[in-house]
Formats: sequence, structure tokens, C-alpha cells
Amino acid sequence: MSFSDLGLSADVLRAVTEQGYETPTPIQAQAIPAVLRGKDLMAGAQTGTGKTAAFTLPLLDRLASTAQGGQRRVRALILAPTRELAAQVQDSVRVYGAHLQLRSLAVFGGVGIQPQITALRRGVDILVATPGRLQDHLDRGSVDLSKVEILVLDEADRMLDMGFLPAIERILRSVPARRQTLLFSATFAGPIRQLAGRFLSEPEVIEVARANATTESVSQSVYLVDHARKRELLSYLIGARNWRQVLVFTRTKRGADRLAASLEKDGLTAASIHGDKSQGARTRALKDFKRQSVRVLVATDVAARGLDIDRLPHVVNYELPDTPEDYVHRIGRTGRGGERGEAMSLVCADESGQFRAIQSLIKIPLPVSTVEGFEPAAPFDPNRAVGKPPIRRGAGSGKSAASSRRRPAPQASHPRGDRGRPQGAGKPGSRARQRRA
Ligand code: AMP
Repeated sequence: MSFSDLGLSADVLRAVTEQGYETPTPIQAQAIPAVLRGKDLMAGAQTGTGKTAAFTLPLLDRLASTAQGGQRRVRALILAPTRELAAQVQDSVRVYGAHLQLRSLAVFGGVGIQPQITALRRGVDILVATPGRLQDHLDRGSVDLSKVEILVLDEADRMLDMGFLPAIERILRSVPARRQTLLFSATFAGPIRQLAGRFLSEPEVIEVARANATTESVSQSVYLVDHARKRELLSYLIGARNWRQVLVFTRTKRGADRLAASLEKDGLTAASIHGDKSQGARTRALKDFKRQSVRVLVATDVAARGLDIDRLPHVVNYELPDTPEDYVHRIGRTGRGGERGEAMSLVCADESGQFRAIQSLIKIPLPVSTVEGFEPAAPFDPNRAVGKPPIRRGAGSGKSAASSRRRPAPQASHPRGDRGRPQGAGKPGSRARQRRA
């Protein structure tokens, strides 16, 4: 199967070739012909499966083939849960639509609304939006959705998790009843099926990778370690294994900030990304990480959702998530586009419950081991439920004599000489993201 078998126009195929894609992914092979036929779609697919191109390519094709003269009106609306995902989807729209005369815009919160209003007034064909900010625009009358022909709900499960249902309902009342609707979701749980039942019409159902199937291209491992020594172990692993780019997950925003600050003290370039950071700070951190001037990006689940970083080789679960599905989402950040990835979890005795929940979801046994010099003081088996042992925190200054002794020799590869973070590189978020699609 090749892209040219799917019925896409020459201009879209050219952009695909320029991206170096040779074969459609399974979701693309199934979704693209269905969307081109005008069908509604209910697609079960996570990030990493090629889902963005699966809806963007045929969407662009349909809009371009029925080009409208006169004033530009929003003809395609793509809803995404987070600012980062919205920005990334618009990037894809721009890349795949490089040879088409369509204009796109992304609107999301955390940045000034006025430039978005101005851009909307100038006219766009494809609008990518987070539900909250789009609702703001509807309330202000700064957007007209009455000419929408195609509506995409991307990562619909996450939008519901984030409490966007009322905003989505409001938006759906503002688009024409006669339209094509494409719903993408990692799960088909009850609320998603209800949403689909209300807003899709005889959808074609496509499911490529179940939410509980972890990607085969990701090797997973677990290191048991005491809570108090996780940071030390993480710094050691990054240095000793010479990881150049690693995404680290923490459970809380404060935890992310604290960890990034500690890693900086260890001589690693690190940044954190979470919901309390300004849009500018988040965009800058992501940009620095992508171009590898920041080596460690520490993120919370919500902030990391949908991040698309090409060839991200390492993901570390510094803390296990409370929801086992989040484990699957986290490790899905690596091992994409045919590349191999490595996902590592640092697990302390307190996290045995979360560990077992993940095990029963993914249904494959995770290899558990320890790193020499970082073995837990009281050995434990995370597969067995036992009474919670107390979290070992060194009295007074923290590190015990024993733990200092166990620490392996510092690695010569510790990155003291890494380039500093470039300052003032661009001003992301200071203006609306309007571009030729
Ligand atoms: P997504 O699931 O949309 O987040 O896409 C995951 C990654 O796969 C992105 O980096 C895309 O650029 C890449 N990708 C999408 N489609 C293909 C394809 N057919 N061949 C190779 N890479 C692809």
C-alpha cells in the first residue's frame, strides 16, 4: 500500500513525499479513504500512530477540491485539548498544506486574545482551537462557525477528562448540523461513545492500537530505588548512559519545578513544563528541548499530552502516574515513526500499587531490576501488596553515610560543558499563530 493508492490529490501527495513518508500507517490507510468519501469517523488511535496526518491530509484535500471564492470563512475546525497539541496540529496543517492556498490559525488560551481576533477577522479556512479559548471567541462574537464543513475532535477522551464537555457542546451548537465529523480518541470508554452517539452520523469505526497495548517499538524497564535517592539515580543514569535528550514525568507541577532545579544543580540543562507556566515559557522550553540546548524536559501528564518530538529516544517515569492509562500515554512519546525508544520507570516501595495497576493494564511483565549502588535499603517486590514501608528520608541534611558510600563514581560525561539555554530566541506566544496553511 502506498500513499498514491489512497485517492489524495497531487498537491497533497507532494507534501507527503517531501516529509519523507513512504508508507501510510495503519490508521492513515483506513481513515484517509473514508474521510475522502465524506464519512464520519470514530477512530481509536493514540499519538504516535500517525493520526494527525490521518485526518489532516484528507481534510486539506477536501477543502482544496471545493475551493470557495470571496471572503475566507472557517470551513474546517479542529478541536484539541492543549495549547501544545493545537500548535502542533497547526504545524502539520501548514506542512501538509504547503502547496495549497489555504490559510490556518491556531487559537488557545494563555496568550492575548486581541491578535487572534484580528487574525480571525482577516479570514481563515482552517481553525485549530482549544475548547476554552474558542468558547471565549464565540461569546465575544469574534468567530463565525456557521460555514464549518468538517469538524475534528482530536484526543476527545482527554478533552472530556479535562472538563471540556460543556465547551464542546456550546461549540457544536454553533456549527452546522450538516457537516462531516471526525472523532479521535485513545479509548472508546462510555463517555466517548455517548459523545459519538450524539454528534456523529453513521460513523465508520476504526481502531488501530488499543489503549492498553503498549507500543512494541518501546523497550520498557523498571528500577527499584528508595524515594529519597531518585534524583541522584536519575542524574547518574543521564550522565552514565550519556542521554542527550530525555523527557521526565513527575506527578505534580511543583515536583516538576523542583526536579528541574535540582538537575540544573547537578550540571544538567533542564527545564520544566506544566499548566502553571506561561505560554511563552512552555513554548520556549519545548523549543530549547527540541533543538537539544535543554537536555532534560520535566513535564506533568497534562502538559506533555500530545507533544510531538521527533526521535525522542528516552522517557523516564520519575514517579508513576496514578492512572495506569497515563503510563501508556507517557511511554508513547518515544518509539515513534519507526524509531526505537526506551522508557524507564524509577519505582519506590510506596508506588507498588500504581505499578501493579500498570501491570494489569498492559498485561506484559515489566522487567524489574536495581542499579548497583542505588539498591533500596529495604528490598521490596512491587508485584506484591504489602504494608507500606516508611519512606526513607535522611534525618537532618538528607543523605546518609551509607548512601554516599553506595554512590558510583561521578561520570566524566557529566554535562558541565553543555551549551547554556539561549536567551530571547524569538517571542513565542506574543502574536497569533497565523500562517499560510
Ligand atoms: P502522530 O501520531 O500524528 O502524533 O504522528 C507521530 C509521528 O509520526 C509524527 O512525527 C509524524 O511526522 C510521523 N508520521 C506520520 N505519518 C507517517 C508516515 N506515514 N510515515 C512515517 N512517519 C509518519
